[in-house]
Amino acid sequence: MKLGIMGGTFDPPHIGHHQAALAALNHLQLDEVIWIPSGRNPLKTVRPVPARLRLEMTVLATQDEPRFSVSDVEITRNGPSYMVETVRELQEIRVGADWWLILGSDSFRTLDRWHEPELLAELVRFAVIPRPPDTPGSARSSAPAYAAGRLDIVPMSPSRVSSTMLRIDLEEGNPDERQISPAVLDYIRAKGLYQRSENA
Ligand code: ATP
Repeated sequence: MKLGIMGGTFDPPHIGHHQAALAALNHLQLDEVIWIPSGRNPLKTVRPVPARLRLEMTVLATQDEPRFSVSDVEITRNGPSYMVETVRELQEIRVGADWWLILGSDSFRTLDRWHEPELLAELVRFAVIPRPPDTPGSARSSAPAYAAGRLDIVPMSPSRVSSTMLRIDLEEGNPDERQISPAVLDYIRAKGLYQRSENA
């Protein structure tokens, strides 16, 4: 069994996340990708919308693909979200699988600042999507020594969308509907999320 982990804040989830997870799924012939909304990400300074809402949006964003699932393992754990602990927890449940952590090259570049990155590199391989300005070559050469042999570059042209851009567009009432799933957009509108008045 080959399993992928797609971790993120998903504030909100967008088409770039979906394309990245699908590209890794197909390129590496994974059986399943488990999406894991983070609890408190120690490396992010922007305060996200509450975890329960990000979890619900992630469920909506992934519902069209039967090989996607969503786990609440990080949002139900107290304290900061450390990926190494998440992987350990999942590996106790899904015994004997091979694991890939799917991430953009921007996030891969921060690996040295994660909790116990060398141990993490023993537990998973990294499926890295080069995000502009990274190329496959620059993403590969950014790998710390302990991760270099544990790296698979996922060939794709990633969309330039980010949650930050999308939040700005949503606040301005002008989201690009190609960048977000209709179900997630309906949810955001129904709950009144990412409105300018919230952040004023
Ligand atoms: P923010 O703009 O708030 O930093 P984000 O769009 O990068 O958010 P995250 O939830 O932080 O989204 O990202 C989760 C993972 O998805 C990260 O590994 C990130 O690199 C990756 N990712 C985000 N957007 C894209 C994209 N457009 N293409 C490929 N991967 C992406």
